Amino acid sequence: MCGVFGIYGHSEAANLTYLGLHALQHRGQEGAGIVTTDGTTLFTHRNLGLVHDVFSQHDLERLKGSAAIGHVRYSTTGGGGLQNVQPFAVDYALGSLAIAHNGNITNADALRRDLEEKGSIFQSSSDTETVIHLIAHSRQKTVEDRVVDALSRVEGAYSLVFLTPHGLIAVRDPAGVRPLCLGRTKAAPHAYVVASEPVAFDLMDAELERFVAPGEMIVVDENGLRSSFPFASRPPAMCVFEYVYFSRPDSVLGTTSVYEIRKGLGRTLAREHPVEADVVVPVPDSGVPAALGFADAVKLPFELGLIRSHYVGRTFIEPQQSIRHFGVRLKLNPVTSALQGKRVVVVDDSIVRGTTSRKIVKMVRAAGAREVHVRISSPPTQWPCYYGIDTPTRGELIASTHTLEEITRYLTADSVGYLSREGLLATVAKSRSSQDESAHNRGFCDACFSGQYPIPIFSPSPHEPQLPLLGV
Ligand code: 5GP
Ligand code: SF4
Ligand code: MG
Repeated sequence: MCGVFGIYGHSEAANLTYLGLHALQHRGQEGAGIVTTDGTTLFTHRNLGLVHDVFSQHDLERLKGSAAIGHVRYSTTGGGGLQNVQPFAVDYALGSLAIAHNGNITNADALRRDLEEKGSIFQSSSDTETVIHLIAHSRQKTVEDRVVDALSRVEGAYSLVFLTPHGLIAVRDPAGVRPLCLGRTKAAPHAYVVASEPVAFDLMDAELERFVAPGEMIVVDENGLRSSFPFASRPPAMCVFEYVYFSRPDSVLGTTSVYEIRKGLGRTLAREHPVEADVVVPVPDSGVPAALGFADAVKLPFELGLIRSHYVGRTFIEPQQSIRHFGVRLKLNPVTSALQGKRVVVVDDSIVRGTTSRKIVKMVRAAGAREVHVRISSPPTQWPCYYGIDTPTRGELIASTHTLEEITRYLTADSVGYLSREGLLATVAKSRSSQDESAHNRGFCDACFSGQYPIPIFSPSPHEPQLPLLGV
């Protein structure tokens, strides 16, 4: 999960990119960067950390020019480290070029081996760098043609933005796995903006024009905007987990409100797994809309029985074993008055390893809850994502190694209910308006639930450690 942003034709390109990255911060907290251009030179600033910490006013002033791209990073392929923070900027035969990528290239290892044999020297361990080398090796005469040439060899998920001294290029992979949208600032001179999610436009008074379609390449330069579809087409496979968890609830994907979809998932979950209870409590923030839908469907009170601290950030304190619950307590604390003596339904969006969920169940019970029923607004996460989400290997995904009964015991819950795959897909499909039935939004990837990968995977994880059965 990462976020990308781009802007062309605005005197405050760096400042607006900074605001755009701020709005996309939920998509990646590990590092951030901006590259701008004044028409001749590229200016770069990137570092590890949150957007707020990476850029000072002085840094932004140094980022000159009226076009920019930016990136917030969540490490997937390649791991951490400053050398993997994007955008990457390079000089090659046709001049300067910068790139920012959300997604994951599934044939990156094979491409890299091939490029290294031909003499390429890689500076990072990121899959994104292969695209730069492919562009540098291409024999095409223009940067646009080289981008097409390079991406024709690439498999996987990519929402990409490129910047050259002369323009901006945005590309969404033919399956449209990760979102990418196009907008314009409302005030003249109506600069073009692109972003992973339309919430990035709200902060800068820009308007969403439309989503970039799967397989579409958009070029913005002094001649205006051009769109083309230069790649072989594929069945659309937008990541369904964007609706469940990744995107901000105030984002609209296609023409559909993510918030309304999440409430709908909660309602469907309640119909599939009803339970005798007194109160519905969300795991904030990700479980809140689904819990609202759940409570609405079963006509039970909705209570904020867990309060989240929004000031956690990274902590470098290594607590002693004696400070129990340290990690989760930093983030979440129970409201005893809302939980004591109650039969509580705890609603969250997903369970990955189960370690956080287990701590939450224990915390709710310790606060006096009589029963704790866990309800999850997505199906069991059983398969790793190879398209840009940093999920663990199969062996670490609790739902791939344990039965529902074992998971219930591990979480120490009275019951656990997951939304069915049919319930998920039907709810998402029902919430979409007829306009969404356009090419960009017809099919979904749900491989982390189904194991049916819509795009070939060339480098699966070599080893799959087993999760120890703690306390089961
Ligand atoms: P677990 O119980 O598996 O330890 O944690 C479940 C929590 O992880 C849920 O609240 C869910 O919102 C969150 N979650 C699901 N997917 C991801 C992800 O890709 N990254 C992060 N940071 N959290 C996730
Ligand atoms: Fe999204 Fe899951 Fe598909 Fe990854 S595997 S793209 S998280 S639906
Ligand atoms: Mg969560």
